[in-house]
Amino acid sequence: MHNYSCWFQSIEDPNYKYDINEVIYRCPSTGSLLEVEQDVQELKKSPPQYWKDLFDSRYRKQSWPYGSGVWGKKEWVAPFIEDKNIVSMYEGGTNLFWAEKYGKQIGVEDLWIKMCGNSHTGSFKDLGMTVLVSSVKQIISNGTEIRALACASTGDTSAALSAYCASAGLKSIVFLPKNKVSVAQLVQPLANGATVVSLDTDFDGCMKIVQDVCKKQQIYLANSINSLRIEGQKTISIELCQQFDWQIPDWVIIPGGNLGNISALGKGFLMLRDMGLITKLPRLVCAQAENANPLYKSFLNNFEKFDSILAKTTLANAIQIGDPVSVKKAINILKIFDGIVEQASEDELATSSARVDLTGTFNCPHTGVAITAFEKLVNKKVIKKSDKVVIISTAHGLKFVDFKINYHLENLDGISNQFSNHPIEVEADTDKVMQALEQKVL
Ligand SMILES: *Cc1c(COP(=O)(O)O)cnc(C)c1O
Repeated sequence: MHNYSCWFQSIEDPNYKYDINEVIYRCPSTGSLLEVEQDVQELKKSPPQYWKDLFDSRYRKQSWPYGSGVWGKKEWVAPFIEDKNIVSMYEGGTNLFWAEKYGKQIGVEDLWIKMCGNSHTGSFKDLGMTVLVSSVKQIISNGTEIRALACASTGDTSAALSAYCASAGLKSIVFLPKNKVSVAQLVQPLANGATVVSLDTDFDGCMKIVQDVCKKQQIYLANSINSLRIEGQKTISIELCQQFDWQIPDWVIIPGGNLGNISALGKGFLMLRDMGLITKLPRLVCAQAENANPLYKSFLNNFEKFDSILAKTTLANAIQIGDPVSVKKAINILKIFDGIVEQASEDELATSSARVDLTGTFNCPHTGVAITAFEKLVNKKVIKKSDKVVIISTAHGLKFVDFKINYHLENLDGISNQFSNHPIEVEADTDKVMQALEQKVL
């Protein structure tokens, strides 16, 4: 019988530890963010091959809940949750495909895209939310009263929270910046029965309100300041190594806004290394929209200082964040991974996104930001043609059809139309149709 455990600890001083069943988001003593620390010494009593075999034996099987990409790694993620309290909708297990055609165009042939948006609610947020909502069920079954779960969101966190709460029979409250999320992102929490509060502010404004609300009532905060989510999201790194048969790529590129996911990605790789499943680390790249680029600015001065900014509107709305909650974690990670921060203008992200779609994807604007970063680093010869590169696609393109259609119909101000493609309108007459086709394709 194993005795795996984990606890919260301050990211500034590991002497401050807290029980994993406590409702706690920041270290009361240092005021810093918390992280979940796993008992690696206990886990290491089993050798690396044991873990590889265990994870492989569960991967994408139907033996609930272990077929889930997150719960297949339960011992490394949230060993304290009893199976009966797990709220899973079979997250993870997303395809990691060889972007052969696009890679050839750029000249980097070992290029892969990890489709984290091919998931229950259409974004990687499901990975963290299954852990958070399951933890809440565990806490409730331990006797703590929790009346509802709440989050501020740029659209994808709220969709994930609402779906997992609906599945668990818990109440959810989501705070959205008015007119700043896509139609799909607005309708998801509505459909799942969440209380949707539309606020006339930006994401950072919503974040302040939700933190106040959660201080007052027995309302549980579900934003990624809550480090339980990071534990689920760190399975992205574990899963992609697993998909490469436990080899690691040279580079992983990911778009960043609130900076939880870049932190999670790094945490996953560090755990793989500490557990002996891998021996070296990839380099990480965090890609930001130029209109919301506080981390990029900090990177330019070697992270010597960080200033939050007022984020401007960007097509990549899920990363329109000027005051990222997880900035300290992200900077720590980027330092360890010899990391780079790149940025993409609106024109660049829209153009990159459309270009890759022409090789068969349907990617979201945030993925477009990561693709631009990739192209820039190849042009600068930082990424070498022989390198193995993974781009993390964070959401499904179908959540962002307004962006896509407006690009193709050339309705976006200031965006060039290199790859736009509009319907041709022709009379329903075979000769006229043939004429039109001859001009366009033949
Ligand atoms: C949340 C989100 C991001 C950014 O992740 P952070 O953890 O906030 O940096 C990127 N892309 C999509 C589609 C998202 O939903």
